[in-house]
Amino acid sequence: MALAITETCVNCWACVDVCPNAAIAWDDPVFAIDTRKCTECTGEFAEAQCAAICPIECAIVNELGEALNPLGSLTGIPVGKLLALKEAA
Ligand code: SF4
Ligand code: SF4
Repeated sequence: MALAITETCVNCWACVDVCPNAAIAWDDPVFAIDTRKCTECTGEFAEAQCAAICPIECAIVNELGEALNPLGSLTGIPVGKLLALKEAA
């Protein structure tokens, strides 16, 4: 039971200090979560502290690869619009 950081991480360091288990460390090119230390904050907080503070959508995922802050969840931009912009780029 552990979360993971994806390559959409922008290395802002915000999650490092809020982790109660010191599970997050630099792992070039982005930060990484030590699966042996991450408890998903179970028993300590109601939500994963790294995901709660992370400003980037899709940067932190669960074991199924599902984003804790999915596309559009932080910006409020509708997912359909984001995907249309991505296809047009
Ligand atoms: S879910 Fe909690 S324990 Fe796991 S890396 Fe994030 S802050 Fe640390
Ligand atoms: S808070 Fe998010 S963007 Fe910032 S270092 Fe952690 S995972 Fe990366």
